[in-house]
Amino acid sequence: MAPERKTWSFRPRWRIRGLLHTQSPLFVGSGDTFEHPEIKKDDGTRAEVQAFTRAGNTPFIPGTTLKGYLRNRIWQLAQDNKEVEKLVKALFGKGPGKEANRNQGQGGKARFHDALLISRRVEPTPLPCWNPETQTFIEAHNCLDRVTKTVAEKMLFYQETVPAGVGFAVEITGKFGPEDTLAEKEVALLLASLEWFSGKAEEEGLSLGADTATGKGRLLWELEEVSVIEESDVKGWLATPRSRPFYRELYRPIGPDREKGLLSAGRALLRPGPKENITIPVVIRFDSHFLVNDPPSPPEAEKKKKDLESEIADHRPLRDEQGQAVLPASSVRGALRSQAERIIRTLGGKACHPGTPGACRSTVPRRDYKDLCPACRAFGAPGWRSPVRISNFRLVESRGETTQELLAIDRFTGGGKHGAKFNVQAVYQPVFKGEVEIELGRLAQVEANDPPGEGNWVLGLLALLLRDLKEGDITFGFGASKGYGSCTAEIGCWDDEGFRKKARTGLDNFRKMVQKQGGDDG
Ligand SMILES: [Zn+2]
Repeated sequence: MAPERKTWSFRPRWRIRGLLHTQSPLFVGSGDTFEHPEIKKDDGTRAEVQAFTRAGNTPFIPGTTLKGYLRNRIWQLAQDNKEVEKLVKALFGKGPGKEANRNQGQGGKARFHDALLISRRVEPTPLPCWNPETQTFIEAHNCLDRVTKTVAEKMLFYQETVPAGVGFAVEITGKFGPEDTLAEKEVALLLASLEWFSGKAEEEGLSLGADTATGKGRLLWELEEVSVIEESDVKGWLATPRSRPFYRELYRPIGPDREKGLLSAGRALLRPGPKENITIPVVIRFDSHFLVNDPPSPPEAEKKKKDLESEIADHRPLRDEQGQAVLPASSVRGALRSQAERIIRTLGGKACHPGTPGACRSTVPRRDYKDLCPACRAFGAPGWRSPVRISNFRLVESRGETTQELLAIDRFTGGGKHGAKFNVQAVYQPVFKGEVEIELGRLAQVEANDPPGEGNWVLGLLALLLRDLKEGDITFGFGASKGYGSCTAEIGCWDDEGFRKKARTGLDNFRKMVQKQGGDDG
């Protein structure tokens, strides 16, 4: 008896291609270190520099890094969504496990290729130890002691970093399916998750690589092309015995219309519930000096030590890619969160101190929600993504920059330099413009965790914070004791009746929630 012939089931091959542009410096470590002639320790010996992953002179983001990152992010959202959970397992294979292993790229249908740097930075590039060959510079980092706010001098470390303005070529391939509809969903999920690297990705958790809390690793995703090899393509190929093209050349772009269809399907998978967001434009006007500090790089500090008349300031503004002073999203988030903590404590509620041992954590996303304090619920905690999104604030107006000579006797620098003179370069009366956005879809998820009808409390808390910002109760940046950083604000939708109504109910619910939480503990 002849054995039954196995039927050949064809699974289409898909390929997603695009570019990840860096919008801020990015560090992805290879685990190796090297020495650089210009990077020295205090005693004059060469310091070690942590190396970026490179193939020869070409930096790359390992496919495993990208894969592990996207998998974890989708997984966080997928906790109660059986359909997405199933797709994640099929695409990415089994979970990466508890230990930080390097096998995240193994298993699953999606193959993430290493993303090589192919789009180079436009010169000139005024960055410390810039190497045009490798497109990297060397960034110095301080380990800032969170409690005393002093820089531990012995804890300086250096990283080989790619700057903003370079592009990495991303390629993801795979045989998806078998059923056509499933294949489409798998590709859709990948496309939608890549969109997280979007213009609003400056928030913690949406950036790749190291040190993302300080705005590093912001990437912008640009989809180039989705292409596919389907059964008919292969049959046609097999039927052409002579002059067969290479298999890879069979990839056929699906076209922008089908791409759009897949994208919206993917978005629907990832963001169930209402999709409308409330976007609040905010204009912040500073009364006098303003400074978010960008400390001098080690070679600059070295130069300054030798030449006391050097023009390099000890404290100078953090700037964006165009050289304009910037009020980064992380500073705004930090200031709003601190104010939120004060409000919650004033109302008798509990708010943790992030970064300290007692701070909230959510190891199982969403399921640990009840253990988070209200400040963490609104502004995020490890394992819990905030429903409040904040943009970088761009400079729209200023009255120039000034340099002030000061005496280092107070908390301006946080320690050291007793009696020493130092200078501070700051922007005078700048005006910054940005956005605060509440994800209603995310709020709906919060609501599912709160008693029915009380979920919109985040909006209420935000309304309180925006009022304080408007009235000048929140300061930004360095030197509040020197009168730096005080400001008032204009809030875009403040007088909008619809917004005010929603905010009022939200506020009642916020008060109830905080008082109930305080009562439970007391
Ligand atoms: Zn907390």
